[in-house]
Amino acid sequence: MMHPTTGLHHVTAVAGDPQANLDFYAGRLGLRLVKRTVNFDDPGTYHFYYGDRTGRPGTLLTFFPWAGMRRGRRGPGETSLVSFSVPATALGFWEDRLGAAGIVTGRAERFGVTRLRFSDPDGLALELAGDGEPGTGGLWDQAGIPAEAAIRRFSSVTLQLRSTEATRAVVTDVLGLVPGPVDGAIQRFDPVGGGLGGVELRQDETGAVAFGAGSIHHIAWRAAGQEHQLQLRGEVLGQGLGVTPVVDRTYFRSIYFREPGGVLFEVATDDPGFLVDEAERELGHGLKLPPQYEGERAAIEAVLPPIRVPGTDVVTVEGQ
Ligand code: ZN
Repeated sequence: MMHPTTGLHHVTAVAGDPQANLDFYAGRLGLRLVKRTVNFDDPGTYHFYYGDRTGRPGTLLTFFPWAGMRRGRRGPGETSLVSFSVPATALGFWEDRLGAAGIVTGRAERFGVTRLRFSDPDGLALELAGDGEPGTGGLWDQAGIPAEAAIRRFSSVTLQLRSTEATRAVVTDVLGLVPGPVDGAIQRFDPVGGGLGGVELRQDETGAVAFGAGSIHHIAWRAAGQEHQLQLRGEVLGQGLGVTPVVDRTYFRSIYFREPGGVLFEVATDDPGFLVDEAERELGHGLKLPPQYEGERAAIEAVLPPIRVPGTDVVTVEGQ
């Protein structure tokens, strides 16, 4: 009995300097900082969530920034590329905008879609894929980027793998993604019914992974709710893979498992979402702590570096 995911929920990576991360993702790319919290496993460091206006699943890129973190190196067994969807007509706008900021871009073509490739300040490989719909619903419009050019949501992520066979079985038999076209050493797997938010598996043995700034820690897949999540957990166990119990992440509930190619996968619920502790207009404005750390708020705020959020009037005094 298959219980397919509807696609990517979020992608979580490691960054260096938190201000450089904010300036790039909120300032240059125009994503909304929808939540500013701490690493629940290491509350002396931030956890930033970027997304669309309300932080809907499928738009969320999150970072653990550690100032001074050594840059990572790419290789097999990890997520090697994050691809965002924009309308094809917007690629020229982005070429100009990123170029004016000194960011080197290059065009590439894959699966018949033109893409703009570049890296974030920590070397994380990004792409704007010209496969987006021209609609405007839910976009964040406070960053000076016209609605017709704004980033829509994830187009896909790419996993670099020594061998794709075992991972392919997980994405089809556990997650219920549908095998799509092949382009050279890359095959795409799409959510049932088509649409964005799937994964590309790239067979490539070159390089050696060193985890650090610019590395992607894990990718998360959508579950509609807790019942769906438990069904997917059963599918993971049915494949003989280890999986964690359900963990409460305040904005969603999560399970984690490592797929056979080495990439850490999560299944996260769509609910309750990012409006659970801040109103829509205030998303990202306050430092939000989970209940277990609220009593240590003063000590936590004292060690977090001060930041300013581009496109808003939010300037923190944390660390002062
Ligand atoms: Zn996650």
